[in-house]
Parts: sequence; structure tokens; C-alpha cells
Amino acid sequence: MKILPSLLILVFGWVAQSAMAWGDHRLPSYRAFERMPEVAQAAPVKVESLQEFLRAEEPAIEKLLLQQEAWAAANLTYYPALPAALAFKANPSRDEEARKKAFQMALRVAPNYPFALYFQPDPRMPRPAGAALPHASVNTLPVSAGVAFSYFPLKANESIDALSVLATASEEPDNGVDINLWSDNPSEWGKVMGFGSQPFGNPSLPYSSQSPFHMGFYHESPVVYQAAGFVTRTFPLLRQHQFATLSILAFRTGHPYWGWRFAGMAMHYLQDLTQPFHASLSPGDGVTKMIGINVLAMAGLPKWKDDLVILLSNRHLALESYQATAMRRNAVLQRDSSLELSLRSMDRDGTYPAWSDTYVRDVVSAQAAAKGATIVQAILGSMPKAYVSDPQFDFGPQSSTIALNDEVEQSASSGSKQHLESAIAELLGNFGAHSRNALRGILKASHQPLR
Ligand SMILES: [Zn+2]
Repeated sequence: MKILPSLLILVFGWVAQSAMAWGDHRLPSYRAFERMPEVAQAAPVKVESLQEFLRAEEPAIEKLLLQQEAWAAANLTYYPALPAALAFKANPSRDEEARKKAFQMALRVAPNYPFALYFQPDPRMPRPAGAALPHASVNTLPVSAGVAFSYFPLKANESIDALSVLATASEEPDNGVDINLWSDNPSEWGKVMGFGSQPFGNPSLPYSSQSPFHMGFYHESPVVYQAAGFVTRTFPLLRQHQFATLSILAFRTGHPYWGWRFAGMAMHYLQDLTQPFHASLSPGDGVTKMIGINVLAMAGLPKWKDDLVILLSNRHLALESYQATAMRRNAVLQRDSSLELSLRSMDRDGTYPAWSDTYVRDVVSAQAAAKGATIVQAILGSMPKAYVSDPQFDFGPQSSTIALNDEVEQSASSGSKQHLESAIAELLGNFGAHSRNALRGILKASHQPLR
């Protein structure tokens, strides 16, 4: 059946410019964890370089990575085996950089990702003294226009609170961890990783190359999988499992800094999938509409298909932009809106099934995929039509010059503003609850105190 592939390839065209689910994971993570006793009351930890951790625990890491490989082969719908040459083998005589590179190649993350010692402060706290680190020493991606991240240096052996490590690390997978891992990407390592060619998006653009690790389409119609099997070639579950089990190993072996940091990294992939635009192909649209649009395109009328691609991109970007701006403003003003209250509330944490290896797919992304229509309705009802209903307009390139939140404030009716805010608050409530449930699962398996 060839009805869908070309539509889907185009639908994925937009991920080239938008690979981040939430504008900034750090800020919602600070709010989601700041009152969780397991984090707020955790002892400060001693900073340790990745090289030190790997040297100290090399045989245990070799064993864990073998277990991860067996888990992935048994549990993922699609999983290309790790090439034998990349398997991590303990070798105490090699130098630290060689060991670090071998570890990253075995995890199949970008070997040039520095794993620098740094933190991103909570914008509600005073700015730390001293100079921030250069962007490129932490993040291998180009600086994005309009996004101001400050990375502050940490030194080995200094002490830092668990919340800062966890929240900083929850942003980390968007900093270059998953870049150019496919055989058709412009990198040496992509040729040997064994992931094959990039399943969707533009293989020459870095942000696009990370998308299949940060999106997962687990709840589409069976017709979609039949027609376009490549949509199953995504790996957020793999990443979540890899970093969660590394976190457990680090906690168990007395490396709490890496315990919290790997836990934060694992959390990122789960948090991405709380965003309907990362958990479904075309939020709010049924498969019948998608097929209909594609049939028209195949008959020489591509307008509706091209329009849908632009509209999906614009709505996704507008949602992220609105949420990130609102939360940054609230942070500067030390103000709690329903977004912050919802992130912090632990009322619903216990209403979900127990944490498991497939919670991300069966609970988190199922819930987000089901929320597509509601969020699209809230966006359309409150945001200026020029940005979210006009396929002639391309939001991405102009996003840094658009004062979206101010325009919504001035022009939307109070009912539609309320609808938008409560729809985003609900998604962020899920972000908080699932992040904490994942952490509880990790701490339980690590024999860390649950309070
Ligand atoms: Zn991401």
C-alpha cells in the first residue's frame, strides 16, 4: 500500500526546524521536582567527571551494556543490533579519552558530545557568580536564535544539590547527544553505528537527525504502520532505558552525581513524549483525512498536503513558544501560574500504573496521543489565525520576532485564553507526574530512600 508514505515523509519535513518538544526542559523540571521529598531532601552530591566514573566502574558498565542490548532486542518493536565492533569491553590500560569514546560509541550516542561538567541554574534563583561557559564547550548544536541558555562550570569534587543536577540533565539530550547517528548523516560515526539511514526528516540538518530519538508514534492506526513501516524506527524507549539503567548502576555503586545526571537524561525522552506533537503524526487529525489529502496529492493536487505540513509545524512551534515564554516570564517575576502549580502538584502521581520499562509507551505517549484534538482546538481558539491557520505563513524562521504571548493576551477572548492555559497546564501536569514516577522507579531499583 503506497497511499501514505509520501504524505508521511512530508509531514516529517517540519521536524527539520523543530526537534524540541518543550521549549526548555530544565525549567519545568525544576518546578516538577522542587517539592518532591526524594529530591528536595537528597544530600548534596560530589561532582565527578564521566571519565572518573567509567574508570571506576568499567567491568560493571560492560555487563550492564550487554544487558541493555538483550533488553532492546527483546522489547523494542524495531531494533537493529549493536555492531559487534562497538561493544564496550573493559580495558583498564587504555587512556581516559579512549574509554569515554568507546562508551559513547557502545551507547550509540554522538562520540563528540563532551559530557561537560556544568549546570543550568533555576532562573528563579540569583545568577551564579563567575562567567558562564562558552556554548560550544557544553552543546555541540548551533546556537538557536532567541534561546538564551547559560551553562555554568562545575569542578570535580565540588558539591551540588541533586535538583540542579537532575533539572540540568533533563535538558541535556537536546544538546547534541543524538546528532548525526544515521548512515546518511554528515558524520564519520553515523556510518558505523548500525542504525541505518534516517527514517524521516532531512538527514543533512542536525536537529532533524535527532528527531527519531525524541519522537515515538506508538498509537497510530494499523493502516499507518502497514503503509509506512518507517514510522516505527524511533528510539526514545531505547534511550530512556539506557540512561535509566545507567542511573541505577551509578547510584548503586556510589556515584550519586551520575545517578542524578543519568536519571535526568532518561527523563528527557519521557518528557518529550508528553507533548502530543511528539507522540502522534498529525495531532487532532484522523487517518481518513490523512489518506484523503494524500490521494488528492497523488492525483496532482498537492496543495492540501503541503498546507497540512506547514500548519502542523506552525502549531507545534507556537505551542512550544507560548509555553516557554510564559514559564520564563513567571520565573523572572517569581510568580506561579496554573502551569507551575500543575507541574508541582503530586495529586495524580499515584493514579497511574506502576513504573515499568514500557510505561513511556503504554502510559505517557498513549495519553499524549489522545490529547491531540484538545490541544489543537485550544491553539486554534486562542492564537492569531495568521500564525496557526495560514499555510502561507512559516512560523519557524520568524518565531524570535513574534510576541505571541502578548498577542494572545490582547486579542483572545478570556474563555479561549483560559482553555489554552488549562490545556497546557494539563500537559505539564502529565510532564510532572510521569517524571516523578520515573524517578521513583529509578530510585527504588537503586535502593535509594523513597520518602
Ligand atoms: Zn528532545
